[in-house]
Amino acid sequence: MKYEAFKNKVWLATPTMHGDEMKYVQQAYDTNWMSTVGANINEVERIAAEKAEMRYAVGLSCGTAALHLAIKHAGETLYGKPAIGHGALESKRVFCSDMTFAATLNPVVYEGGIPVFIDTEAETWNMDSIALEKAFEMYPEVKLVVSAELYGFPGRMDLIKAICEKHGALLIEDAAEALGATVHGRQCGSFGDYSAISYNGNKIITGSSGGCLLTNDIEVANKARKWSTQARENAPWYQHEEVGYNYRMSNVIAGVVRGQYPYLEEHIAQKKAIYERYKEGFKDLPVQMNTITEDTEPNYWLSCIIIDKEAMCRQVRDDSKALYISEKGKTCPTEILETLAKYNAEGRPLWKPMHMQPMYRMHEFVTREGSGRCRTNAYIAGGCEDVGADIFERGLCLPSDNKMTPEEQTAVIEIVKSCFA
Ligand SMILES: *Cc1c(COP(=O)(O)O)cnc(C)c1O
Repeated sequence: MKYEAFKNKVWLATPTMHGDEMKYVQQAYDTNWMSTVGANINEVERIAAEKAEMRYAVGLSCGTAALHLAIKHAGETLYGKPAIGHGALESKRVFCSDMTFAATLNPVVYEGGIPVFIDTEAETWNMDSIALEKAFEMYPEVKLVVSAELYGFPGRMDLIKAICEKHGALLIEDAAEALGATVHGRQCGSFGDYSAISYNGNKIITGSSGGCLLTNDIEVANKARKWSTQARENAPWYQHEEVGYNYRMSNVIAGVVRGQYPYLEEHIAQKKAIYERYKEGFKDLPVQMNTITEDTEPNYWLSCIIIDKEAMCRQVRDDSKALYISEKGKTCPTEILETLAKYNAEGRPLWKPMHMQPMYRMHEFVTREGSGRCRTNAYIAGGCEDVGADIFERGLCLPSDNKMTPEEQTAVIEIVKSCFA
């Protein structure tokens, strides 16, 4: 090895604490609000709504819970209240981002719905608006879309919203990765009829866990708050008319989140500097980084690259392993990730598209051309129109921790470059 391995591991993304967090956690302790009620939750809800420019935020145990309650509420709004034991979306198709974390759309399945996966836009890596239009042509009865903003680079969420409006469909915006990013000056998390944000440990700010549902509709906020606390009716005893959940945010966790919010802009600035150093460092390499769509300002959560087709060495993946053949002047995500790991640095493949996941492999997948047709051999993306499979094959996320020093990042850049030698 040409360089020394990093003494301290260089991470993909880890929490960055500042001190205020402990102050609010201590307050929760000292006032004995060690509960799912308290001043920290109220403050997080106030700040989260204000920051996202939405009227209401509901503090929850995680972003997935926010997505679940949003999806359930949308289902009941569209199709009526289901009988006990049935989902709100039973047998209904829902258009979902394909290249994303499974948490974006698993809640569709919790509610009995059928995710139909919409292919990814090659340039922005987010849901392809042209494929979404195609899907509405194929399934005009669909009334719900769940769309995520990938890695904090929001793509064309405004277009997705306009298409939903045109077709009379509700939009759930999964802004878990995009807190603080903007499209035409407007905050991510403000585009959906419902939006979800996350304070998971590796997000741009964190409570160790936690999330919020964002909405402009007070009925939605009240309903989500009720459902998240076991759906108690207003009565002296535990009275129940509908099924509830234990999804409320803890006041201790909320203390951490409350302490983090003032540092969101600082974290974004650090992530932006990381992105720009990579961009400069890779300017002569056959790679493309996350694209900044016109008139958007990302939060730069994770810096990722896609290797140009001509510079890809041969790589095959099955459901748990990957092999590649090293070749002069070429490389592949597996080689880069293995090399980074050798030097004690952490990277990660891009999100594996949902239509390639064993549990969703038989679900419908819509590309710009219509029904997806690369399913049988999705790993070998050559010559097919499956954008998601193609960029999964060629892409990876690089260490993007905001505590990585410029010297460490310079070494990471050299390590990546060495893979192309
Ligand atoms: C992190 C994440 C979530 C889930 O958030 P949790 O708070 O971990 O439940 C959902 N969607 C996307 C795209 C995410 O990255």
